Amino acid sequence: MAVPKKKTSKSRRNMRRAHHGLPNVSGIECPNCGEQKLPHHVCGSCGHYDGREVVAQGEANA
Ligand SMILES: [Zn+2]
Repeated sequence: MAVPKKKTSKSRRNMRRAHHGLPNVSGIECPNCGEQKLPHHVCGSCGHYDGREVVAQGEANA
């Protein structure tokens, strides 16, 4: 069975845990219309992604 060779120092242990309490990114603002949208996803409000219109307006609802 694998056993750690050295005791993990307080510094290393705390560095490992440093990002455990960070809030998870649930959404960002659309750069086109400012609505909340998921990162790396087409905006559900205006259909824009990467600075251009990917989904035509009205098509998303219809
Ligand atoms: Zn948008």
